[in-house]
Amino acid sequence: MDLRYSPEAERFRKEIRRWLDESVPMAWRRPRFWLERDGTTESLELRRQWEKDRFDNGFTGVDWPVEFGGRGADHEVRAVHDEEMARARAPIGPYLGLTYLGTTLLGPTLLRYGTADQKRRLLPGILSGDTIWCQGFSEPESGSDLASLRTTAVRDGDTLVVTGQKIWTSMARYGDALFALVRTSPRESRRRGITFLLIDLTLPGVEVRTIRQMSGSPDLGHEFLDDVRVPIEGNVVGEIDEGWGVAEYLLSVERQASPIGQYVEFSHELNDVIAAARCTGKDGRPAIEHPSIRARIARCRADLELLRVRAYDTMTRLGRGEDLGREASITKLLWSRTRLAIADLGADVLGVDGQLSTAPAGELAGHLRWRHLQVRGQRIAGGTAQIQRTLIARDLLGLPR
Ligand SMILES: Cc1cc2nc3c(=O)[nH]c(=O)nc-3n(C[C@H](O)[C@H](O)[C@H](O)COP(=O)(O)OP(=O)(O)OC[C@H]3O[C@@H](n4cnc5c(N)ncnc54)[C@H](O)[C@@H]3O)c2cc1C
Repeated sequence: MDLRYSPEAERFRKEIRRWLDESVPMAWRRPRFWLERDGTTESLELRRQWEKDRFDNGFTGVDWPVEFGGRGADHEVRAVHDEEMARARAPIGPYLGLTYLGTTLLGPTLLRYGTADQKRRLLPGILSGDTIWCQGFSEPESGSDLASLRTTAVRDGDTLVVTGQKIWTSMARYGDALFALVRTSPRESRRRGITFLLIDLTLPGVEVRTIRQMSGSPDLGHEFLDDVRVPIEGNVVGEIDEGWGVAEYLLSVERQASPIGQYVEFSHELNDVIAAARCTGKDGRPAIEHPSIRARIARCRADLELLRVRAYDTMTRLGRGEDLGREASITKLLWSRTRLAIADLGADVLGVDGQLSTAPAGELAGHLRWRHLQVRGQRIAGGTAQIQRTLIARDLLGLPR
């Protein structure tokens, strides 16, 4: 493991930091700025414009090939990019980042499996944010067991006619299109007969309903697809019936993501909790002086450092061209558990009084309350903690089933 970044990555850090200092207004860095605009047109327009500026300045898809609008940079530059974005509290990631699913999931998949025409047509729009992509894998009865999905696509000439439902779709409220898994041959074995299909969400027969999380955020969607006619030409990624391999590649890209940006982001979150602990009383003294609170802060800090070291290890190994395989499941467990522990600590620091709008920690208390509810979904998104443990037990530890 090498703990230093290359000189080129450090040069890039200066460049992106300068741009972020100018392009992310201080108001956006306030804990509740985006929450107060949750689901509004204003929020969408601010982030759309910011994504466009980001693209015009060359800070989207930094590790993508130059011919498709990237910088062709290596994984260290990408890691510095992630660190600096999180440091500046830029509107990125699965909750605020309009280009997040396109750039982290669909783009790399198209680079591997897309036709020349699909790459030329779709990649620039992914980077610029002109097309906001959503992931349509989960269905009401198919989540952990994805291959049991039931949305069908029946061939009619040059068209696939899609009928079914997709659910828990992040960004659906803003989404222009879905990269989805549909069943094209029900009689094949479970994993054969699935096709990776691009579906324009403005087509007739598509209805998108918003799902609010218990935090109140309207950031998930439920799509009803009723005889939606999707042209085959240009919208099937890979071959018809052979989409499972494409989806597996996409999921492996998701799992390989380096957690260094999360380390920075969650460190901010722990700092917020510490700030609240300084101004909130517990048992007649500031919460920060309470031994059990101090011990939990230390534990979260230690887990964050573990995450950082793991991120460096991931980076070093990816740089050597190694595939992390199932080890990525350990990282997912570690980061989701750490984030949840920080959010739970925040709620306990606030205590019962923290539920009131008059809580001593003020605006920060409101934000910690929201985060406590919002981050619970992280144990589930991208594969539940139980499923990750099963994968670790089976594929890494070789335990019997
Ligand atoms: C915030 C959030 C964002 C999401 N975004 C998207 C998105 O953009 N696109 C998308 O397609 N999906 C998305 N999802 C859906 C997510 O991928 C699924 O919720 C997840 O895979 C679990 O599937 P499920 O909800 O059907 O639960 P189920 O699979 O029904 O699981 C229910 C419970 O049973 C447990 N369980 C199931 N099978 C096993 C087993 N074999 N062994 C042990 N325990 C088991 C699970 O761990 C869980 O606790 C999102 C979910 C959340 C919470």
